[in-house]
Amino acid sequence: MHNKSQSGAPLRVLIIGSGFGGLGMAIRLQQAGIEDFLLLEKAGEVGGTWRDNSYPGAACDVPSHLYSFSFELKTDWTRKFAPQAEILDYLRHCVAKYQLRSRIRLSSEVQSAAFDESAGLWQVTLSSGEVLSAQALVSACGQLNHPAYPAIPGIERFAGAVFHSARWRHDLDLTGKRVAVIGTGASAIQFVPQIQPKVQSLHLFQRSAAYVIAKPDRAYRDWELKVMRRLPWLQRIDRALKYIQHETRALAFISCPWLMKPLQLSFKWHLARGMTDVERRRSLLPEYPMGCKRILISNDYYPALAQSNVQIVSEPIQEVTPTGIVTADGREHGCDVLIYGTGFTATDFLAPMRITGCNGLELNQAWKDGAEAYKGISVSGFPNLFILYGPNTNLGHNSIIYMLESQFSYVLGCIQALKRQGLRYLDVKAEVQLRFNRQIQASVRQTIWAQGCSSWYKTASGKNTNNWPGYTFTYRRLTHVPDLRDYHCMR
Ligand SMILES: Cc1cc2nc3c(=O)[nH]c(=O)nc-3n(C[C@H](O)[C@H](O)[C@H](O)COP(=O)(O)OP(=O)(O)OC[C@H]3O[C@@H](n4cnc5c(N)ncnc54)[C@H](O)[C@@H]3O)c2cc1C
Repeated sequence: MHNKSQSGAPLRVLIIGSGFGGLGMAIRLQQAGIEDFLLLEKAGEVGGTWRDNSYPGAACDVPSHLYSFSFELKTDWTRKFAPQAEILDYLRHCVAKYQLRSRIRLSSEVQSAAFDESAGLWQVTLSSGEVLSAQALVSACGQLNHPAYPAIPGIERFAGAVFHSARWRHDLDLTGKRVAVIGTGASAIQFVPQIQPKVQSLHLFQRSAAYVIAKPDRAYRDWELKVMRRLPWLQRIDRALKYIQHETRALAFISCPWLMKPLQLSFKWHLARGMTDVERRRSLLPEYPMGCKRILISNDYYPALAQSNVQIVSEPIQEVTPTGIVTADGREHGCDVLIYGTGFTATDFLAPMRITGCNGLELNQAWKDGAEAYKGISVSGFPNLFILYGPNTNLGHNSIIYMLESQFSYVLGCIQALKRQGLRYLDVKAEVQLRFNRQIQASVRQTIWAQGCSSWYKTASGKNTNNWPGYTFTYRRLTHVPDLRDYHCMR
């Protein structure tokens, strides 16, 4: 199909992004006999999250047996929670095994896309100026793709190196350096223990402390790997057990917050074990209900913070000077390198791409009060646009790959319906989308995420646009097959 796109003929499907979402979708299309697609990736390599986040200590925090495709099991994960390089290798393996290379165009950033209603085609413009067209446009850009940089006065004057954890400067040796880390989220708790032993000093700027509990991680033993290789179905069983174990946590998030109690106890025990200094321990106590922000897992975070070269700074940052960071109490904390562990602009979704649907409607305009979609996938007025890992499909308790696989089935169903029924386009009915999102927002208000904290799950106005407020098996049932009665089906 590569040739078809080059000749300008419309494709059946264009996929944007080559992370788990884009690659998985491509495999599922191929398996269903739809070969007429192309995958566009802005970076020079596939991998998404696992290409970009190569910081020291990067690893998944959902067990690998569960954090991988159900249709491409890998029996030789070296650890229970695989490190970044191994996950990236797995994605490369998927590309090779399913012979996707010829259908992927790297260094091809989608700048904008506009729907041509009369032709039933998306006209997709790349930053090179090239225009491609396709009947269906699948966005697989992820929720955590654009690093968030806090607006700190004076940052441009800083004389040392500054970088974000998702753009790690591997060329920079941190040995003996005075390092400042801003942020204490999922990435920071992974890289801080890795860099702490080598730096001269580490100032950790913390706006709000995280709940960190033990990580049941270890290397697989040789005999376990041998057994799994011989009896791959054992891994299926382990995967199912891990799924159930993780899914039970949803109970605590969604309907029974009191179930957080045992986790609270395990957090307190973990903190007390890892941090004996009473003063520091106090500064690591979160001031919001457990689960409101993502619960983190690490065995070495607290022990690293207990070291004498670490200072936890909870005072708000006032400004950056050429030589360090000044906090609200007027103190200057000298540093040579500043690392942002400040996460991603998760509520922006498809931005900065400009997506124009029917009647000149722009997605950013349609979403000015916060992103929403039907089942996280379809947006009224944007026919044949299918979003993977879209609004309200993030999880706090289980594997995103499970959600993505539910979406693959649904999107494939829509694409097959377009083809089989000779439709020009499918446009989700506005009232269907509205009803669905009223329910989602009503459910979200009952969850632990609504219990008084700000988090990356929410917009500045407080709307939770990111999390799925239910069980993942419910989502799977909802997305099993599309119900075309939810859509305007145009010939
Ligand atoms: C550090 C980190 C750890 C995580 N750990 C876990 C975990 O343990 N368990 C879990 O379930 N989830 C985890 N996540 C969430 C993770 O993002 C998802 O699990 C999953 O990888 C998302 O895949 P994706 O394909 O949807 O998006 P991504 O992996 O973000 O891929 C999106 C791709 O789209 C490309 N792209 C974006 N815009 C354009 C454009 N305009 N044109 C062309 N290409 C574009 C990007 O370059 C990128 O390659 C983690 C996230 C991070 C950041």
